[in-house]
Amino acid sequence: MRPLDKFLHIASGRRQLFGSSRVSRAVSISALFFAVCAIGAAAVAPLAPDAADLPVKKLTQELPLPTLDEQIAAIEANEQHFVREETVRRGDTLSALLLRLGVEDDEADKFIKTDSVARSLLQLRTDKAVRVKTNDEGELEWLQTTVTDGSDKAARNIEITRDANGHFKATDTTANLERRVEMASGNIISSLFAATDDANIPDSIASQIISMFETNIDFRKLQRGDQFNVVYESFWQDGQKVKTGRVLAGEFTNAGKPYQAVWFDEAGGQGGYYTFDGKSLKKAFLKSPLAFTRISSGFSMRVHPISGQWKQHKGVDFAAGIGTPIRATADGVVDSAAMSGGYGNLVVIKHWGGYSTAYAHMQRFAPGIRKGSHVSQGEVIGFVGTTGWSTGPHVHYEFRVNNDARDPMSVVVPNVQALSNTDLPRFKAVASDMHHRFDLLRPERLAQNSKASAS
Ligand SMILES: [Zn+2]
Repeated sequence: MRPLDKFLHIASGRRQLFGSSRVSRAVSISALFFAVCAIGAAAVAPLAPDAADLPVKKLTQELPLPTLDEQIAAIEANEQHFVREETVRRGDTLSALLLRLGVEDDEADKFIKTDSVARSLLQLRTDKAVRVKTNDEGELEWLQTTVTDGSDKAARNIEITRDANGHFKATDTTANLERRVEMASGNIISSLFAATDDANIPDSIASQIISMFETNIDFRKLQRGDQFNVVYESFWQDGQKVKTGRVLAGEFTNAGKPYQAVWFDEAGGQGGYYTFDGKSLKKAFLKSPLAFTRISSGFSMRVHPISGQWKQHKGVDFAAGIGTPIRATADGVVDSAAMSGGYGNLVVIKHWGGYSTAYAHMQRFAPGIRKGSHVSQGEVIGFVGTTGWSTGPHVHYEFRVNNDARDPMSVVVPNVQALSNTDLPRFKAVASDMHHRFDLLRPERLAQNSKASAS
């Protein structure tokens, strides 16, 4: 500590921090500082290397008034600094985030948007923590965060600092992440997202729960009393959560019926979700050609005049806004994509085993969707419209078995896609570990299960 700071330490009785500041501000309040000095001087020691260590009552001598240079330096040292941390929220912009962090600094804003390293901060992934230090005018002194590129392990620490001349610099170093496994449970009272919010489950985990179970569950029709447990991975650095990873296993009870799934990297594959007996969940049909998201869930609850029922016209109608993406409900080949009378713009997809699906009244087809195109489950094939005989924007969805229309909500598609014998032992080990974790979430069922496994 410089002698002058020691002096200030005593004079003001407040904790002092060093930091850069602008001289203009220092001069503008120097008059005030003079006044403080004059009052403080009577009780304060002369400048001495170790004055701060002396008890205040022993100080008797008058203090000479400091020079202007000293005053400026003192004001710089006297300035308030703030360290704050915020996490990125859904829909955040850089400006909104900086505002919450108390940063009011056009130069910093400009630097972040233009510097090649600092720009990576613009990937505002939800739940990412950002820490800053500012002065009391909101000028940025430093900013720290960790960014990830989407892969599981790679992450970089980004630090932006301001030097004594007021210039910003951004540095980029490799982060060492620690993987943890977390468990959480939720109960459906109003909607899936309300339940995940209540349980502090990140949105990325909520989305993964949907994609794990959307071949079994229509998330538009959850019931009060539905319940789920989830095991997922997260990545940490210095006690701070940097990112959320993958759902490793989940179970979801819908209308009293339990569904379970576990993530497994099969040999030579891309990994996917399997039932606990080793059947791939991907080889089934999505319950809805429309994605279920926080936004669409709100939409379909507000306006849902016709959706979800098997009608006399042999299809299920899903209401949605014009332009909402429509997804292929399973892997297949496009059999036709054309204007087709009352169906309007219609896509028909042929799947395996005599199954086909049809999607009608589209506003338009997705690029590249034509007869012969290969599509995968969840791929966008077109957009909701009201072409043909349609009273309002919706997708009319048909499910056919050997060209005979069936109710897609009640048809049971046999799942024949199982893991190979080489993968099965490893899969069983993973599945049994996850079983055990779920048991930990349900202590009342532990006794029952261990009895069952012992027999
Ligand atoms: Zn219809």
